[in-house]
Amino acid sequence: MRPADLVLTGGTVVTMDAARRVYQDGYVAITNGRVVGVGAARDCDFQAAVTRQLSDSAVLPGLVNGHTHLSNGISRGLFDELPLADWVERGMWPSLRASRADTAYEGARVSLAENLLNGVTTTVVGEFGSPNKDSIEGVLRAVTESRSRSVVARISVDSADDHDPSQATAPDVRESIDEALSEVRRLRGIFGSDLVEVVPEALGVLRCTPQMVREFTAFARAEGTRMTMHVASSPDERDEALRRFGKGSIERLADLDALGPHLLIAHCVWPNENERKLLAESLTGVSHNPVANLMYASGLAPLAEMIDAGVRVGLGTDGASTNNGQNMWEVMKSAIFLQKSRFGAAWGSAELALELATIGGARAIGLDEQIGSLEVGKRADLVVVDLLRPHLVPRSTWPSNLVYSGNPDAVRTVLVEGEVLVDEGRLTMWDHEEVVRGGDAAAERMNVETGLAHSYHGRSRWSWDD
Ligand SMILES: [Zn+2]
Repeated sequence: MRPADLVLTGGTVVTMDAARRVYQDGYVAITNGRVVGVGAARDCDFQAAVTRQLSDSAVLPGLVNGHTHLSNGISRGLFDELPLADWVERGMWPSLRASRADTAYEGARVSLAENLLNGVTTTVVGEFGSPNKDSIEGVLRAVTESRSRSVVARISVDSADDHDPSQATAPDVRESIDEALSEVRRLRGIFGSDLVEVVPEALGVLRCTPQMVREFTAFARAEGTRMTMHVASSPDERDEALRRFGKGSIERLADLDALGPHLLIAHCVWPNENERKLLAESLTGVSHNPVANLMYASGLAPLAEMIDAGVRVGLGTDGASTNNGQNMWEVMKSAIFLQKSRFGAAWGSAELALELATIGGARAIGLDEQIGSLEVGKRADLVVVDLLRPHLVPRSTWPSNLVYSGNPDAVRTVLVEGEVLVDEGRLTMWDHEEVVRGGDAAAERMNVETGLAHSYHGRSRWSWDD
């Protein structure tokens, strides 16, 4: 018998390995945060310090949320029904001015709690570094405390081109390239770890100068790290890119030599055929965010065509003020159903959705050697799902039911790097009530400053008695 720290046994193990092996009565053995054995329970030759006997359960690789903004956990619902350009002007810039380390920390805790309870073990996070430099530190503190895996991008803008108001930037949010990169370096030094990677983000090809895109790209390549961007996100961006450059945003990125495996682009709703080819050839990652795209009427992204072209696609929620949940199960269901609306009911499958949300997302962020599947040598990031749920009946079709019911309620236990972060549906690192009450109090503080404290009642159609 070989020694292991922890063995999970008796559940159905979905490996997501290249052969997509599933062990109906399987085991996963973990030592020092890594998977050291996986297979049929009858073949398990590990002597574990701790054994978890699972019954009526499935074990899956942890979900990768390829795009979110964690601090937005406390600005949920404030900006509903605002077109994207209005949201940026009336919602995003004022919120950034009011965001401090303490409010960003509380917002991030709320979002992280929601992600973890959904079975998300890796989040790709975008947070502005300006105008309040300490705001992102609150997010990084929450991410560190959560002990979940994350790529945290420090978002910058520097373009003063306000020809198209939908693509303009607020002067006080702009910063210089040197300032931005020195902050990224500083934050990498303080918060970088096995679990947390701090990277630069040039928000977009229209809100950033070509110099910023080029220098951030050079930084990512030199450091062997990643870079993120919001690209081809809306019809406004598509039209303004055509006006400014005579081509699409992704073709523009190719001209700037910015595409490559270091880059993850969020949204990607409007890539043309040539751009899909460029993304695939350059191994650039894409986070497809179907629910956020629906909320902002941004268009139906060509997920099917991107997959056919061989683009590295994962799935993301976007932030809690632009989705509005952090529900990856809803995202998986929507991703497939939206393509069905384009190509007919035969398109896609629940299995495809689970692949995109695990190994697909890992590949999109260049972490597929470490996470995304349950294989020997990989990090032990996994989710245990309770199969005794009404929405999963009948048992014989549970993978389909898990995705197409769109309900995160079955997620019971979540491990990152072998550590239990959610146990029996409860967070292990934070008190549930403290997270919720802390988030509410921080939202109240921020909304008093932004003047949005009573915005909900102000727009409600109902007669409230206060
Ligand atoms: Zn975003």
